[in-house]
Amino acid sequence: SAAPHDEVLAAQEAHLKGLADSEERTIFDKIVSKEIPATVIYEDSLALAFRDINPQAKTHFLVIPKIRAGLTRLSKSTEDHKALLGHLMYTAALVAKQEKLDAGYRVVVNDGVEGCQSVYHLHLHVLGGQQLSWPPG
Ligand code: IMP
Repeated sequence: SAAPHDEVLAAQEAHLKGLADSEERTIFDKIVSKEIPATVIYEDSLALAFRDINPQAKTHFLVIPKIRAGLTRLSKSTEDHKALLGHLMYTAALVAKQEKLDAGYRVVVNDGVEGCQSVYHLHLHVLGGQQLSWPPG
């Protein structure tokens, strides 16, 4: 039988499928559906992690929800998304460990025009594998 955690994810998945999303699809939906290739490094029922095609650090991957559920950007978050957001953040840490980023890393969410967001499907950037600088531009 499924582990309790799988049941939690399945319930989340059903919940997210019920949240309407009429916004335009993005390239990330095609990565989820495998219509276009990506270097996928982690996958579960809710989240997908794959390498950024234009890496800004030695290690740079993205963590996205498989079902966008209206989350074109972080600022569209509602109470309905809280568990998913927690899962994505946790997944970023899990995959960072898998990628052996033990000396540290950065998690970034770009939101909207002033945040330099280019793909309107929520994603966490995880950057590491080298010494980073602060602040970003
Ligand atoms: P944003 O600018 O925060 O929206 O981040 C979008 C990211 O998606 C950028 O870092 C792009 O390099 C990355 N990206 C765009 N298309 C692809 C793709 O097809 N595969 C992997 N990464 C992509």
